[in-house]
Amino acid sequence: MIVVASTNGIVGIDAAMRVLKAGGTAVDAVETGIRLVEANGDDHSVGYGGYPNLLGDVELDASIMDGATLAAGAVGALRNCVYAISVARKVMERLPHVFLVGEGAARFAREMGFDRVDLLTEEPQSVWENRLRRDLPAHVFEHLNQQPDLWRWVDVATDPEKAWGTVNFLAQDAEGQICAGASTSGWAWKYPGRLGDSPVIGAGVYADDRFGAAACTGTGEMAIRACTAHSIVFYLKMGIPLQDAGERAMRDLNDLGGAYLSDMNFIAIDRDGRHAGFMSGEVGAYLFMAEEMSAPEEAPRTRVELNKRWANRVQVQDAT
Ligand code: ASP
Repeated sequence: MIVVASTNGIVGIDAAMRVLKAGGTAVDAVETGIRLVEANGDDHSVGYGGYPNLLGDVELDASIMDGATLAAGAVGALRNCVYAISVARKVMERLPHVFLVGEGAARFAREMGFDRVDLLTEEPQSVWENRLRRDLPAHVFEHLNQQPDLWRWVDVATDPEKAWGTVNFLAQDAEGQICAGASTSGWAWKYPGRLGDSPVIGAGVYADDRFGAAACTGTGEMAIRACTAHSIVFYLKMGIPLQDAGERAMRDLNDLGGAYLSDMNFIAIDRDGRHAGFMSGEVGAYLFMAEEMSAPEEAPRTRVELNKRWANRVQVQDAT
């Protein structure tokens, strides 16, 4: 049995392992671990206390995939509900669908008995206000919601080098079943309704008991375009060892052209419970906890450098 998580999963990884030790499934463990991060108001990249979108509304993305059945559930742009991962699990278990977004996702959350909670807390609200006051003309900021061309301002306001984050959890239970999950408030100051990779099965998460599982953080647009989580598991399926599979999936991102490229990170496990972490940036670690360990440990991520960075976007735009 093993649980692997991004470092902000520190508030939930012990509890996730306890679930496995008590005979719970990998899906139970992933949900338990992620819920504790979603409830952590000090983490401004996930759940309650997350950074809002451009208009100041917190919109959550989350997904969960059960590697035993390849069943999956996801929610996107979900408002006023802390436990996006649990709503995603309910989508997987109660509906003939995989993915709900926006008002439909919020309605389903209410029907499933989740409390309506205002997710925007004081600190993220003041960071949002200060950043946007600094980056946008005063007359635009004062009437942001009335802007007929809000799209113009998203480019000025958003910068993935400045505010980012997601929680990833992977678990393998006593039966060998594997689950992957991710939850995020997404790219800070994103255009309303923007979905990242976290709720997109195959982009932000993928799990298949026969081969392994992966989950991503970083610029979601890149993982969506390259189907990154699925790529890692697909390389495992092709018999490529975990370390090589992760490095290849990261290098695949170098094929993405154009603007809007930045950093990518992911964690992965294979069907034998081996784990690894990867990053394109300079410093990074991930957490793991195996059944025989009394506490989680941090391991370094392998760095695979990517060619294109966010800064290139300015040159590309100027040239058009
Ligand atoms: N992957 C997330 C998204 O694109 C954000 C992040 O992990 O930084 O929404």
